[in-house]
Amino acid sequence: MSSSKRKYIVVLGSIMSGLGKGIVTSSLLRMIKIRGYDVVPIKFDGYLNVDCGTMNPFRHGEVFVLDDGAEVDMDFGTYERFLNKSLSSICSITGGKLFKTILEKERRGEYLGRDVQFIPHLTDEIKKRVLEAGEQTKADILIIEVGGTVGDLENGYFLEAMRQLSHDEEVLFLQLTYVHSLSKGEPKTKPTQHANRLIQSLGIKPEIILCREDEPLIKEAKEKIGLYCNINQESIYDDPYVNSVYKLPATLEKQGLYDDIAKRLRLRKKEVKVGKWRKYVKNIDRAKKEVNIALIGKYTSVKDAYVSVEEALVHSGATLNLKPKLTFVEANEIEKNGAEILKDCHGIIVPGGFGKRGIEGKISAIEYARKNNKAFLGLCLGMQMMVVEYARNVLGWKSANSTEFDKNTPYPVIDLLPEQQRIVEKGGTMRLGAYPAVIKKETYAYECYGKEQIEERHRHRYEVTPRYTEKLEKEGLIFSGRSPKKQIVEMAEWKNRLGIATQAHPELKSRLEEPAPLFVGFLRNVVRVKKLSR
Ligand code: GLN
Repeated sequence: MSSSKRKYIVVLGSIMSGLGKGIVTSSLLRMIKIRGYDVVPIKFDGYLNVDCGTMNPFRHGEVFVLDDGAEVDMDFGTYERFLNKSLSSICSITGGKLFKTILEKERRGEYLGRDVQFIPHLTDEIKKRVLEAGEQTKADILIIEVGGTVGDLENGYFLEAMRQLSHDEEVLFLQLTYVHSLSKGEPKTKPTQHANRLIQSLGIKPEIILCREDEPLIKEAKEKIGLYCNINQESIYDDPYVNSVYKLPATLEKQGLYDDIAKRLRLRKKEVKVGKWRKYVKNIDRAKKEVNIALIGKYTSVKDAYVSVEEALVHSGATLNLKPKLTFVEANEIEKNGAEILKDCHGIIVPGGFGKRGIEGKISAIEYARKNNKAFLGLCLGMQMMVVEYARNVLGWKSANSTEFDKNTPYPVIDLLPEQQRIVEKGGTMRLGAYPAVIKKETYAYECYGKEQIEERHRHRYEVTPRYTEKLEKEGLIFSGRSPKKQIVEMAEWKNRLGIATQAHPELKSRLEEPAPLFVGFLRNVVRVKKLSR
């Protein structure tokens, strides 16, 4: 498709952050995709980090990883889950990437003596990247989510670039806003009016307004927004609270949002293909059978630090008609009070993580799971600690550890990958992205995946030290998956089949319509444990 026919939707957040722009963008992606269009998201992030790889989950939530190894904003997780499609790093445009390119170009003298400016050099670079992403993905429609809130210094240059883009291309702007009600029946539209005026002062005219709200919009509120924001009242939509994000596309469609967009962008009527999505969304609501799962983490006070793990449980729960009840447990809570606090749960997850804090608590939780026949799922660091626990408590190597936490351990059962030994830079230097693994037949991992060759995404520096694997295996730990050539341990499990773990992050590829096989396998185990505990 030529760029002249490609269409663009730009999603702007106004008034405040945290309104769920990512979920709205994902819902738009979904409603357009099911009508047979190729639709691809682009995310603008104004921060000066090149990518999210160096960001602490405490400040920024989960770091999401794409197949190509890009470490991106967690909104990409939502996009992929709603689209059921893997995206690439060209879809992520950050302030850091832009300025890096511009400054490198300047140093090479490529601006031919000109002073380098925000307009046109930076804005041109943004437009170039957007157009290139369209060409590379061959998308019919690009949906661009502008990170941050209109009025922030950080995203001003992105907005200017979009204003310019709308001059040459067909661009539809959508404003997401918040209508607060002081008391029931008293919605306040003034902040929306001011925010809209701010957007219009930038030369951008939103044609659609979506309102997060305390109560459904009453007629008077719509009239006011319509009048002051110079917008057709039919194009003002409720963006209500939904108890599952997967319900939002249908909630918005019912109000006519897709038809409105289709009319404005002159999209043809196409057959709608909803697939298994609708059935699974219903299952999320209907499932009655509860199972208790504990996630032992170190960023548990942050809402978004483990979002992909949470969603992978929702997906596998929907397939199995289960309601997984997830409790977050701080690892150092276990260090203080012992692993007995986990006695009421049927399954235990130790997710990925970095740094020493909480490690001993995680190891105790794994020991508790192994000795008390609980279901266990180890993800990346979780698998590494499963190996450490086994070495310490089954092989009797009491001071076994990962060299990430104890450089001088006599039993370094987890050690840096050889290619990591000389790396000093932090950003983008881990073993990142999709790597293949080969699964051993007759293991629980094989039962979960149903095939030998698989591919999952990675983000780590350490691995199981090859010289210890034979001894560990002899004592009963099963290494059920390995990398095809390098013999990196990719998966491990206990003989009782209740404990499974992987060096990868299968949660990153879990989708409602295609749940991660290891999570489904884990939940099946959780059900087994629940039955046995009765
Ligand atoms: N810190 C460990 C490593 O670098 C585990 C990383 C993770 O859990 N993502 O190998």
